[in-house]
Amino acid sequence: MKILIIEDEPGTADYLRQGLREAGFAAEVARDGADGLHLLLAEAFDLAIVDVMLPRLDGWTLVKTLREAGRQLPVLFLTARDEVEDRVRGLELGADDYLVKPFAFTELLARVRTLLRRRSPVVEATSLKVADLELDLVRRRAVRAGQRIDLTGKEFALLELLMRRRGEVLPRSLIASQVWDMNFDSDTNVVEVAIRRLRAKIDDPFETRLVRTLRGMGYVLEDGS
Ligand code: CA
Repeated sequence: MKILIIEDEPGTADYLRQGLREAGFAAEVARDGADGLHLLLAEAFDLAIVDVMLPRLDGWTLVKTLREAGRQLPVLFLTARDEVEDRVRGLELGADDYLVKPFAFTELLARVRTLLRRRSPVVEATSLKVADLELDLVRRRAVRAGQRIDLTGKEFALLELLMRRRGEVLPRSLIASQVWDMNFDSDTNVVEVAIRRLRAKIDDPFETRLVRTLRGMGYVLEDGS
């Protein structure tokens, strides 16, 4: 069982990591919200322990983004604030449980075990959503602003990749290897052409553009509104 601890206080983070390792878990630490989110989206963790007050990206936004990306792993919030609104807000945004600092390690361990037991057997997301664009992973189709959009297999795979990694700049080489499963020479325009076709379907007919080009860097899909 692999646990990610996202906590900016080094003392607390190290204490948790050591305790969890001694309890038989594989535990890693991220020191800020942005790194934590990146790791959770890139790797398969079974549970995340997330401090609410974090540099670069707060715990609430992190969990909200994680859920919107379709990630269902259990999240235990750590909060220094003992206010009811904060707990409610955290739970509404998709946290599974919370613990108020300071807490006893045995209490944290009990919560972690409960969450891991309760976890439903791999509930995979059936759809991805960014702004008014929704990708139905079961029926393999896209809908934007209520309009159904037909995509080819490659366009679907490309859009799925961009949506799963929303907000992240994806270099052409990465898109080529993930969508076409092969490496292209740097002068190839296969990715460019595919992006253009995808845009003509999901962006051009609509008011807000979701796919942006970062010259020399790659492409990013994000809610620009
Ligand atoms: Ca903190």
